[in-house]
Amino acid sequence: MKIIYADNNATTKVDKEVVDAMLPYFSDFYGNPSSMHTFGGRVARRINEARASVAEMINAEPEEIVFTSCGSESNNTAIMSAINSFPDKKHIITTRVEHPAVKSRVEHCTRNGYRGDFVPVDNLGRLDLDYLYDHLADDTAIISVMWANNETGVIFPIEEIVDHLKGKKIIFHTDAVQAPGKVIVDVKKVKVDMLSLSGHKLHAPKGVGALYVRKGTRFSPFLMGGHQEGGRRGGTENVASIIGFGKACELALKYGAKEGAKTAKLRDRLENSITGQIKNAVINGDRENRLPGTTNISFEYVEGESILLLMNEYGICASSGSACTSGSLEPSHVLRAMGAPYTLVHGSIRFSLGKYNTDEEVDYIVEVLPSIIERLRKMSPFWHDSQ
Ligand code: PLP
Repeated sequence: MKIIYADNNATTKVDKEVVDAMLPYFSDFYGNPSSMHTFGGRVARRINEARASVAEMINAEPEEIVFTSCGSESNNTAIMSAINSFPDKKHIITTRVEHPAVKSRVEHCTRNGYRGDFVPVDNLGRLDLDYLYDHLADDTAIISVMWANNETGVIFPIEEIVDHLKGKKIIFHTDAVQAPGKVIVDVKKVKVDMLSLSGHKLHAPKGVGALYVRKGTRFSPFLMGGHQEGGRRGGTENVASIIGFGKACELALKYGAKEGAKTAKLRDRLENSITGQIKNAVINGDRENRLPGTTNISFEYVEGESILLLMNEYGICASSGSACTSGSLEPSHVLRAMGAPYTLVHGSIRFSLGKYNTDEEVDYIVEVLPSIIERLRKMSPFWHDSQ
């Protein structure tokens, strides 16, 4: 059966050029980049080239990039670095719709002597900026607001927030894991202090990420160990993946804008066809301000998981709620924060398209989905009651 992969916010296919860049670093150039010999030194140089490519993608300087094992580690590092660097500051601000890697770290801090404020969103998933600004305190150590939401694709006004915070001595971190390759991320224009990236969301392998740390930002390492990454992150580097990540960033910088425009067109066609054909299908999130490939659609009176299972029979891969929380039947914290009613929260599906999706794949989803929803609604007493 052909697989129709519409789950690119969960992870992406590794680009062939990325694989080719990585392969020599498994069995030909396997030296440890920390070694004194030339064989290791060559690998160290290649890591620094990858660092330059990651930096270039976000218009940063290479020294401002710290490689990590994933976006989750980058997020945890940013928060822990801020609170360890400013031990007298006991307050953290984040949002109600962050990825669990930020949300659970902040919740953990609030159980251990910190105050946490979680900025609400409106019914379109847009941040309540007044709430954020009203809750700034003298002892706020860090504000962490994601660049774009992984479930709805809604993009947040990071530049506006950073401009508002100018002159205040508060670390500002953004989880930009879902953004690069889809929208422009430029840290010279948007002056965040720290920014998280993850390789596997932009066609590099899983298990590699980066944290951008603006020059001059106080930093305290999360993973202590050797002198790797200039003493900012201990542990022998995941060499091949870092090199793949560098290549993926080069490709994202070169082709991201063009691919994003194509993906947005596919997404819009998918969305319009679905809502045109299926009754009580509601788009979640601010349609004006979204990542190009993401659409989050609720089908009233059916369970998202049942839709996923039936789509799976046709080879269609999508997601209900965040991929990281699937496996638990907890309804999405993002949709709940948006005040979506029970019937919508439970019937939500996220389609996230990427550069490898085609018109034919969208046609196939649109052909198959209406009968799946109809089949499920026939079995739903709530649907019958509502009609
Ligand atoms: N932040 C966001 C917004 C994400 O979507 C994800 C992954 O789903 C992460 C962080 C975690 O990244 P990683 O899987 O590399 O730990």
